[in-house]
Order: sequence, then structure tokens, then C-alpha cells
Amino acid sequence: MIPFLDLQAQYAVVGPEIEAAVLAVLRRGDYILGKPVAEFEQRFAAFCGTKDAVAVNTGTSALHLALLAAGVGPGDEVVTVPMTFVATVAAILYTGATPVFVDIDRDTLTMDTHAIEAVLTPRTKAILPVHLHGRLADMDAILKIARARGIAVIEDAAQAHGASRDGRLAGSFGDIGCFSFYPGKNLGACGEGGAIVTDNPDYATAIRQLRDWGQAGKYNHVRRGYNYRLDTIQAAALTVKLAHLAAWTEARRKVAATYDALLAGGPAAPPLPARGSEHAYHVYAVRVAERDRVQAELKEQGIPTLIHYPKPVHLQPAYADLGYGAGRFPVSESYAAETLSLPIYPELTEAQAGEVAAALRQACEVRDVRVA
Ligand SMILES: *Cc1c(COP(=O)(O)O)cnc(C)c1O
Repeated sequence: MIPFLDLQAQYAVVGPEIEAAVLAVLRRGDYILGKPVAEFEQRFAAFCGTKDAVAVNTGTSALHLALLAAGVGPGDEVVTVPMTFVATVAAILYTGATPVFVDIDRDTLTMDTHAIEAVLTPRTKAILPVHLHGRLADMDAILKIARARGIAVIEDAAQAHGASRDGRLAGSFGDIGCFSFYPGKNLGACGEGGAIVTDNPDYATAIRQLRDWGQAGKYNHVRRGYNYRLDTIQAAALTVKLAHLAAWTEARRKVAATYDALLAGGPAAPPLPARGSEHAYHVYAVRVAERDRVQAELKEQGIPTLIHYPKPVHLQPAYADLGYGAGRFPVSESYAAETLSLPIYPELTEAQAGEVAAALRQACEVRDVRVA
């Protein structure tokens, strides 16, 4: 039985080191903002190639504080996509600003940069592209539009640890990059975690204060902040795992290449290659007709799959009051109906990938067999 995600396989490799690091925290008792937090921040900034990193308790908090640091607040608008995890949109609403959606591009599944200009207004304060599934959005085009107007660019890199272009890493293109360390992400904590990366020292200082009750020093509250600190225990575990991230990303790319080769020309379309950039393959999603039937068929064969995401945010009941109805973002909506995510993680073997690909081809063809 192939799991969709196998956290135990990873733990089998890094477990002893994590246990030693976490035990050291437990014995010292520096649970809150202990030295491992600053250590992890330095290493994560180095990994991303940015001047600074600030660790927080979730990816959602990272997005929330990045927006606040960029000055986003009530009355402002932030341009983003509806084909994302709901947290991207929720974080904008937390600031009191209004999310303004543009559709995704059919090939890249990231922000359709040709649609941005039409939605800009004098109230547009930031653009928030999402590196969906670990594929970089077209940052050149987005930055060009934003720089011409003095609009901030904040990357939702929660799925894109290690994605790169010309040696530059996800999170380092815009003004602030936001990451999640939710356990299933490419770099996952033993619980919740997140971080922002930036080259801008003012943003870094603001976010460092905001995550810890707006304190500039103990009981000196210079901003109205939050309790968004990363636990020292999580920082210790993340530091151990970060050392493996580059190798894990390569392993994900190998699995993706195996799927690509086995599915080419078949009934389930592999994701298009990430032209000019290196995909981090947080998700490997095919497009397939009769998706729900194929998914059910695969389930019967013992092959687990997921859907990222079955409903774009503008069609979720909780966000209906944003005022976008069905039909407004046809690319996102059709993608939601066709996308099917296959198991992918660094430890997935070539044989397992072969099993998944064969089952998928067969599931797509079952209908034809029955008709015949
Ligand atoms: C996971 C995720 C988030 C939220 O991260 P949490 O750590 O779960 O708060 C935000 N945006 C995207 C695109 C994500 O995948």
C-alpha cells in the first residue's frame, strides 16, 4: 500500500538527530525564542539567499505579518489568485484589506500576469502571487508591474521551499517571501511553523516585533502585535531537517521525472514543465477527464490521491461575500474540476511511482473497457 505522504519514512532518517536536538531544548527549558530559533533563522535565510529570516508559528501568520509590514490595512486592496489554499486569502482579510482576484494561467497554474493591470486601482497596496504546487509564478512580469507603481510584492512560497530560477530561490524575488512548515510541506516541522524571508531590514524588524506582541524590548510595546512566535522545539527540529532539504527537493524532482516519462502521451496529462525555473514539486498533479471517477477507481486499487484544490476560494461559501460568482475565473474553475494529485515525497521509490502511473493509466481506461 502506497501512502499519499510518508512522514515516517523521512523520520526514519532524521529521527535520531531530531530527538537529540529536541531533548536538548527540553533539558534547557528555553522553550520560547531560545537560541535554536535565531540559529534556524540564519540558516533559512542563507538557504533562501536573503539577508534575513524571521520564524513564526504558521505560514498563515507569515502572510499576515508580511502584509502588515508592507503597510497593508483597511481600505487597501491586495491582488492574488483564487486557486490557492484558503490561508492566502484569509491573511489578506485579517489585515482589513480586500482580496482582489485574477485568474491563473492555464499552463503555469500561477497568476495570469496579463490580467493584473486591469484590476489595479489607486488602493492596490500589494501583489501576492502563489507558487502553486512548488512552481514559481512569473516573478519578472509581476515585479515589473509592481515596481512601476510602487506596489509591494509578497510571495506565498508555502509550497515552494527550494524552487528556483537561475540559482535564485523562491521567497527571494519579491519584497517578502512567506513559508509554511506545516508537517506535509517540503520542509515540515513536528507541528506548526512558518517563516518570512526578506532583504529589507525594516520589514524584518517590524515582523520580528509583530510576532512577539510588538515588543522592541521586554514590555516595550511599540506596535500592536501578536503571539506568533515559533516554538524553540520546532526550530531545533527544522534546523535538522533543513540540512536535508536540497537533497529532498532533488529526490522529488526525480519522482516527478519518473511520472512525466511514464504518463507522457497517456490519458492523464502530466503538469507542463516549469520553463526556465526549477519546480519544487510539493504537489504533482495531473489533469484528467472524469476526475472523480478516476480518483474513485484508484482508491479501489489502493492508490491514494488528493485534489489541490477542489474549489477555488471565490466559490467557497465563507468567501462568497467577496462578490465573485461561478464563471468569473474559468481557468481556476476548470482546473479545480480536472486536477488530481498523485503521491509524491522524497522517499517514494521508482517502483512505487511506476505502480501509481500504471494504476492511473488503467483507471482512465476502465470506462472504455466496460463500454467494449
Ligand atoms: C500551507 C499553505 C499556507 C498556510 O500555511 P500554514 O502553515 O498551514 O498556516 C498558505 N498558503 C499556501 C499556498 C499553503 O499551501
